[in-house]
Amino acid sequence: NHQIHLVSRPAGEAVADNFHMVRTRLPTTLADGQVLVRHHYMSLDPYMRGRMNDAKSYAAPQPLNEVMQGGTVGEVVDSKSPAFAVGDKVVGMGGWQEYQVVDAGKPGMLRKVSTEHVPLSAYLGAVGMPGVTAWYGLTQIIAPKEGQTVLVSAASGAVGSAVGQLAKVRGARAVGIAGGPQKCAYVVDELGFDACIDYRQHADLKSFSQALKQACPDGIDGVFENVGGLGLDAALQRMNAFGRIALCGMIAGYDGQPIPLQQPQLLLTHRLRLEGFIVSEHMELWPQALTELATLVGTGKLKYRETVAEGLAAAPEAFLGLLKGRNFGKQLVKLV
Ligand code: NDP
Repeated sequence: NHQIHLVSRPAGEAVADNFHMVRTRLPTTLADGQVLVRHHYMSLDPYMRGRMNDAKSYAAPQPLNEVMQGGTVGEVVDSKSPAFAVGDKVVGMGGWQEYQVVDAGKPGMLRKVSTEHVPLSAYLGAVGMPGVTAWYGLTQIIAPKEGQTVLVSAASGAVGSAVGQLAKVRGARAVGIAGGPQKCAYVVDELGFDACIDYRQHADLKSFSQALKQACPDGIDGVFENVGGLGLDAALQRMNAFGRIALCGMIAGYDGQPIPLQQPQLLLTHRLRLEGFIVSEHMELWPQALTELATLVGTGKLKYRETVAEGLAAAPEAFLGLLKGRNFGKQLVKLV
């Protein structure tokens, strides 16, 4: 069984040398209650960058010289648990490795899923943690009314793409921000957003704000923020009174750079509500969210795109690429 460990913590930008591939032996027999899962896909997510630092945060840091933690989907290949049979498709937190031995008795360790209407990989994206993140921020914080305008950054990504489509399902107007003409075209033409702004074309606040004015003629009622920086500053200028900001991520600052707000007073003058959230702290809503997401994906109403790196060894580079926007849609690593 090959694994990738975190062997050093980044000073500033994360680099490939922070990771190291090791080979471990799988146990020859399983203990009672254990299940052996062969991973088909692993998920690479921006939050992993934060956990590489040894800093106080909402989650404990990733331990050094241990397998990188993360979401996985795969197939049960051996089982000593009555709850799982060989051949079952499962979602878990198996980490950056080819196989995992998991104590299936512990709640929340492994979840059986059906691949009848939803492809296995989607359980790491649109019908998984990123999808629920989109659902939570949109429905619980922004709660758009019909006809209202919702703006979302990193709009072509795993979370952002779902935010806009869920907003459209609720009768809202969806406007995206993404990097480059290709991603913007996808967001509008394939995902059905009403408009998308290429932030690379707008290097200063005035130009960004002007672009938002054009794309959002009735102002902005809800912002789903994934990035931080100029886009958020421009959005604040264009927000309507009593708008809501779901602060989901600030990927522009994940290497440690500060991202100050240029005009925080707009929160007051526009009477805005800004709320940060962590999706894993709202487990009670996951079943409801996953049911809607699975139905929408199964019926083709929720579209998504994946960038798939091949093989475990490709994971570190693919992860670094995710932090630079080289992914286009949900970043996965395919193992089988
Ligand atoms: P994405 O699939 O959206 O991939 C990340 C995208 O972010 C890139 O494709 C890129 O898109 C954009 N990006 C990367 N670096 C920068 C940068 N320096 N400046 C601007 N844009 C950048 O990832 P996810 O959908 O998985 O995650 C989206 C956000 O949601 C992240 O901030 C993540 O941390 C957050 N998140 C928060 C959760 C929570 O519970 N609060 C849970 C899950 C995710 P582009 O090329 O368009 O710039």
